[in-house]
Amino acid sequence: MKKTLLLFSLVLLLALTVLAGPKYIFLFIGDGMALPQINAAQLFLSSSFEDAVVPKLSMLKFPVQGMTTTYSSNSFITDSASAGTAIATGKKTNDGVVSMDPTLTEAYPTVAQFAKSKGMKVGIISSVSLDHATPAVFYAHQKSRNDYYEIGLQAVTSNFDLFGGGTFNRPDNRGKDRDLFEIAVENGFTLIRTQAEFEALNSVDGKVIITNEVTPSSGAMVYDIDRKNEFSLADITAKAIELLKNDSGFFIMVESGKIDWACHANDAAASVGDTIAFDRAIAEAIKFYNEHPEDTLIVVTGDHETGGLTLGFAGTKYVANVPAIGTQKMSYEAFDALLSSQKSEGKLNSFEDLLSLVEDNFGLVATGRPQGIPLDDAELARLQEAFGYYMSGSVPKDSRTYTLYGGYNPVSVTLTHILNEKAGLGWTTYSHTGVPVATFAMGVGQELFAGFYDNTDIGKNLFKLLN
Ligand SMILES: [Zn+2]
Repeated sequence: MKKTLLLFSLVLLLALTVLAGPKYIFLFIGDGMALPQINAAQLFLSSSFEDAVVPKLSMLKFPVQGMTTTYSSNSFITDSASAGTAIATGKKTNDGVVSMDPTLTEAYPTVAQFAKSKGMKVGIISSVSLDHATPAVFYAHQKSRNDYYEIGLQAVTSNFDLFGGGTFNRPDNRGKDRDLFEIAVENGFTLIRTQAEFEALNSVDGKVIITNEVTPSSGAMVYDIDRKNEFSLADITAKAIELLKNDSGFFIMVESGKIDWACHANDAAASVGDTIAFDRAIAEAIKFYNEHPEDTLIVVTGDHETGGLTLGFAGTKYVANVPAIGTQKMSYEAFDALLSSQKSEGKLNSFEDLLSLVEDNFGLVATGRPQGIPLDDAELARLQEAFGYYMSGSVPKDSRTYTLYGGYNPVSVTLTHILNEKAGLGWTTYSHTGVPVATFAMGVGQELFAGFYDNTDIGKNLFKLLN
């Protein structure tokens, strides 16, 4: 009798433990996304003070919020590899290291690998290249995030079910090694490499790698404000859900990698555009959650803040008008490309030529123009200096020009600075900062993500829920 009771209790305990964890887990990582980036997107979409209280982003409607510290083993200001490692493994490491310990001898097991070992399907999605630090920490173990080929090799030889978003940064290691896509096929991956193939894809037999047809720089998808008809982060997220849904569950990680890149370049419009695109991907997971509320967990976090973005600038004091950045029609990256093509076609010769491009693409105008945001004399002087460097093809290397341009195209970064300042947005750096990030959770196990905790706790909690 006693034995039966004991056995019964054990079975019950086991059943409860099994029931406790979510079957479907979504982990969303906004690279470089902390409260300032989220707040800028929220304010961009708000029409008044009162309206700004109403959540415009899906992530702001989550029932549970946390504040998450991001320091790495060797720095208060983390990089994406160490921050990603903390989230993916529950353990700290040094900057630049991909899911290994600081002595570079031990490979840390990741939550994605653990989910796979439990029979779940695993999908890794990123708007930047699939071998970039944040996606890499879930499937690779490497001493350096810069070993792109070795990282990519671990992707194409992995047992994960789906990789999607950007492409590989160095698919053949600059001609030195075998093509990763060839190796992927040998290892059972189906390749989807065009928009037409993407649209026709409804099911897949085995593993799949889905790369966007448009990846102009470093294997990344374009900024959402520059995107034409190619798939978005929300589209690839919806596709992953469709392909990976099964009775054994799934673990899907979605990274928005260019919120970070936009903030490194101090471009608020590109950052806000990608934050909103990221939020639309989150909305796809919420749709799935609403169909499977008893089985699903969605966690949204950032790996660190980038740029030292804030609401409030010395030049505008208490005035802020974030929607003003909407006059910017393309990212700094696309504007760099436009300047370069205009210059090589001989259409960019004078400051007047530049001002007409600026009017069309940033809505900033020299005094006397009827429409647009007027540039004052000081701003025109800044722009003129930057234009001089751009046309001469060289920027003097000193601390003053670094503070002004951070190594970016002097014209584009001067324009985003001027426009952002007019909106009341300030930047302090071209690097990351050490402020905590916001974490949001919805679904089974959500309560674990409330409060003030470290980024390693996200990994630890996910391991706990998968167990
Ligand atoms: Zn990062």
